[in-house]
Amino acid sequence: MTVPVFRFAPSPNGHLHLGHAYSALLNRQMARASGGRLLLRMEDIDRERCTPELETAMQEDLHWLGLDWETPVRRQSEHFGVYRDVLDRLIRMDLVYPAFLSRGDIKREMQKATAKGLIWPHDPDGAALYPAIDRTISKRERQRRMDGGQPFSWRLHMDRALEQAGEPLFWHETADGGSDIAARPQDWGDVIIARKDMPTSYHLSVVIDDALQGISHVVRGRDLFHATGIHRLLQHILGLQPPVYNHHRLILDHDGQKLSKSRRDTSLRSLRAAGMTRDGVVSLVGLTPQP
Ligand code: GLU
Repeated sequence: MTVPVFRFAPSPNGHLHLGHAYSALLNRQMARASGGRLLLRMEDIDRERCTPELETAMQEDLHWLGLDWETPVRRQSEHFGVYRDVLDRLIRMDLVYPAFLSRGDIKREMQKATAKGLIWPHDPDGAALYPAIDRTISKRERQRRMDGGQPFSWRLHMDRALEQAGEPLFWHETADGGSDIAARPQDWGDVIIARKDMPTSYHLSVVIDDALQGISHVVRGRDLFHATGIHRLLQHILGLQPPVYNHHRLILDHDGQKLSKSRRDTSLRSLRAAGMTRDGVVSLVGLTPQP
């Protein structure tokens, strides 16, 4: 029997808060219950916001919580070459295109459409979809702009990608008794596959790393539930084995908002400084302290 592999994959761009604690502890609990392994991955592709100091602080907080994990820790910033190769494959497959529109350009396109009485579509996170107008720029013009140093990101040509997939995609969700969920990548439009200054994005790196690290169980917050549709599409196109998913409840603050790293009051550091114990944190997120 193969051993289940779980992972906790934070981005070291701030301090861990109660929501991360819940996710990390739940991963450990599920790994233990199934005799599985637990890996830690640093999703630190954003070289401006992620720092080694924050990573060290995160690892300290996780140790304080009583977690341990296999080493070496995978740091995405050390694998840009791997992501670049996959991006090149997607470019060769003609499934991504260079997208040159700035935020201001996108806004103008939306205003034009709204002035005509059209409703601009938004993704499940509420962000406006990318106007796919530079899909049709000629190869020559693309090259001219790229050579001229015009900034661009690589975006997925969603229609082509869906066509290539050819069949409806599903993922297995183990939460709430288990069910197969229909993936709806189309709701996200032409998503970014590689950001302006790097050969990757969250979506690309996460599917590559989950596959490379042999992750069998992804346990993460419900805020990423719909994004899993994009991940399933990329896995299918790239021929990667999909893990099963468990999108867990989010820990909300007193006004029902999702916790964020900028809200200091729920960071594990400040709770610890205020005298909270490890078991206190475990109980606070609704889990049972374990030895
Ligand atoms: N790095 C992501 C975050 O910090 C989590 C990604 C995932 O678990 O797939 O929210």
